[in-house]
Amino acid sequence: MNIIIFGPNGSGKGTQGALIKARYHLAHIESGGIFRENIGNGTALGKKAKAYMDKGDLVPDDITIPMVLDALQAHQKHGWLLDGFPRNPVQAEKLWQALQASDLGVDYVVEIQVTREEAKNRILGRRTCANDANHPNNIFIDSIKPVGDKCRVCGGKLSARSDDQNEEAVNKRHDIYYDGENGTRAAAEFFKKLAEQGKTRYIILDGAGDINTVREKLLSELK
Ligand code: AMP
Repeated sequence: MNIIIFGPNGSGKGTQGALIKARYHLAHIESGGIFRENIGNGTALGKKAKAYMDKGDLVPDDITIPMVLDALQAHQKHGWLLDGFPRNPVQAEKLWQALQASDLGVDYVVEIQVTREEAKNRILGRRTCANDANHPNNIFIDSIKPVGDKCRVCGGKLSARSDDQNEEAVNKRHDIYYDGENGTRAAAEFFKKLAEQGKTRYIILDGAGDINTVREKLLSELK
């Protein structure tokens, strides 16, 4: 099973993605996560990527595309959930070409829709748990408010991602996401057209609801 998940930063994509991943035992291929891992390990790729990430810019395609395609290849046996990629139409086309060349496909494309304003509020409030990045905590959302300054799930230490706290960078990331011509919305549109041709299945979720409502809808749509 291969699944792509789309949603702006702050849409709850990580949370719903974790659910999908667990349900089908998929590898979670998260482009931003691979970059962060490389930064943490001080690799050459990490050093290159950091300058772009800190500003909220996309890391150039010649770095990102081969990196993600390699990761997909490595996890092809059990299937994957692809998160954070593709983010522009070139990435979408290259991904689709690479899959077709290997006789592979995409079983589902999941898109979580939220308004730009809502996404921004959520992103500025979110906190990452040191024990598990998929423990949802957000100082602006009552249902997932941290307990004091600790993770509401496990009591772990919380921190804010540096690129989440820079409003300019958040705006830039959303400019890219909501760009229907050259950005991520256009990449999503590429897959929506494939779904119209019966080549994949496209699920749209209204991300404005609380986590459980979105989760129920998602589970009812996945076969
Ligand atoms: P994310 O964790 O998905 O918010 O990604 C963090 C940052 O990593 C983004 O703001 C980009 O700088 C970079 N990045 C992640 N995925 C991609 C991608 N598909 N193409 C280019 N840059 C990416």
